[in-house]
Amino acid sequence: MTADRPDVLVVGAGSAGCVLAARLSEDPARTVLVLEPGALHTTSWPPELLDAGLVPAGHAETWHYATALTPDRTGLLHRGRVVGGSGAVNGAYFVRATPADVDAWPGLTFDELLPSFLRSESDPLGGPRHGTDGPVPVTRSTDLHPRSAQLVQAARAAGFADEPDKNAGAAPGVGPLPRNVRDGVRVNTALAYLVPALGRPNLQVRTGVRVARVLVVDGRATGVELTTGARVHAEQVVLCAGAIASAAVLLRSGIGPAQDLRTVGLTVHADLPVGRGFSDHPDVAVADVHAEERMRTPGTPALEVTLNTPTVELRPYTAGFDQLVPGSGAGPQPCLGVALVVPDSRGTLRLRSTDPDAAPDIAHHYLATAHDRDLLADGVRLAHHLLAQPPPADVDRWVRENLGTSQHLVGTCALGTVVDAGFRVQGVEGLRVVDAAVVPVVPTRGPHATVVALAEHAAAHWSHP
Ligand SMILES: Cc1cc2nc3c(=O)[nH]c(=O)nc-3n(C[C@H](O)[C@H](O)[C@H](O)COP(=O)(O)OP(=O)(O)OC[C@H]3O[C@@H](n4cnc5c(N)ncnc54)[C@H](O)[C@@H]3O)c2cc1C
Repeated sequence: MTADRPDVLVVGAGSAGCVLAARLSEDPARTVLVLEPGALHTTSWPPELLDAGLVPAGHAETWHYATALTPDRTGLLHRGRVVGGSGAVNGAYFVRATPADVDAWPGLTFDELLPSFLRSESDPLGGPRHGTDGPVPVTRSTDLHPRSAQLVQAARAAGFADEPDKNAGAAPGVGPLPRNVRDGVRVNTALAYLVPALGRPNLQVRTGVRVARVLVVDGRATGVELTTGARVHAEQVVLCAGAIASAAVLLRSGIGPAQDLRTVGLTVHADLPVGRGFSDHPDVAVADVHAEERMRTPGTPALEVTLNTPTVELRPYTAGFDQLVPGSGAGPQPCLGVALVVPDSRGTLRLRSTDPDAAPDIAHHYLATAHDRDLLADGVRLAHHLLAQPPPADVDRWVRENLGTSQHLVGTCALGTVVDAGFRVQGVEGLRVVDAAVVPVVPTRGPHATVVALAEHAAAHWSHP
């Protein structure tokens, strides 16, 4: 690498960026430069970012974006701002998208993605459907917290099947969650992939720098401009800034819906539906009025089991959100979370201006269809049934007034419409997106394991354009 012109410039060292940079730099002939606004922790991590019993969504090393969940209700989106990205602040639940989820995407099948899931993980279950020597440890709780055990019993009593391995692609049911945790530590992809690769002479990581836009000359990406105005040139640029920031960077680069770009005064380089049609899991938290174990027991995971049905995921949190999500201002009563995993709703992300400091205009359009309203209300009734407590008198209204989001936003630069099966931005040479933005539809499980597998897949199939 000449210091100022690497072969590959990775924008963002989050869940996907750490995987991609580490895998691509395994080839000593390829030079890789990573640009990340957050800090790089190697040995001395802030303890909250390692404690897998917390969800440190409000930690200082996070970004926060406002969204309109519905026209009447705003929400806050959190993302990691640190090498490790959102995987350093998330719930540490590491479940693959199902075969049916992936098979519905254009350009990729589950069987094509399976080798990348296997390469990413070390799962003691072993066998042909699990990796055993990948960088991410996958573990499951065996000695369940009383709240987890209670949900398992209640689900069985209500006729739901056991699902002993949620990464086996079997029918949904109740069972232990695969988690990216070793000895109580949330093993994010910085720990698993990037930090072990840091000694390589062909890999550089620059922190404290934020990319404003991609430089496009004659239909080809030549590098990026930082928010300071400085420029970094590269043979190829790959955006791994996450579903919100990768879309915003593309839009500021003149790549997006032509009409929207012209409205903010940008030159159009490619007319693509960037920011259109993203999806996420709407959720609500049902307080368990009988729960007595309000305090978090250090070392206990926030979430150990889930009940999955074809339409909802029920999550029995082991303590109140005031304990699990420090600084959230939430109440002390433990909850049974209910997430709609097959939402119809599709969101939009637009620029308000070309200023990289201006937050994008984000709207989730949750509860816009009867399908979503009815299924989420049914999920809330099921949660009350399993908790042996009566539901609210007006469930629809209760859902509207208590609506939240699972923070699983994907699909702002979707496979098939914005990027092709090689993750190349259509109509622009030398530019890719590899992160949650490319997942076309939110999987029926959390997206983290799938984002890691997509980055593995991108690296394994990398070739010069
Ligand atoms: C609070 C929370 C809890 C969650 N819990 C779970 C869970 O338990 N299980 C699960 O499956 N999923 C969970 N998720 C979702 C999952 O963590 C994300 O889908 C996944 O981490 C996204 O990875 P990514 O690589 O797309 O983006 P990120 O990991 O967010 O990485 C993006 C990186 O880009 C950097 N960046 C941003 N802007 C720029 C810029 N302009 N220039 C350069 N770099 C930039 C960021 O600082 C960050 O490091 C959760 C998410 C959150 C926020």
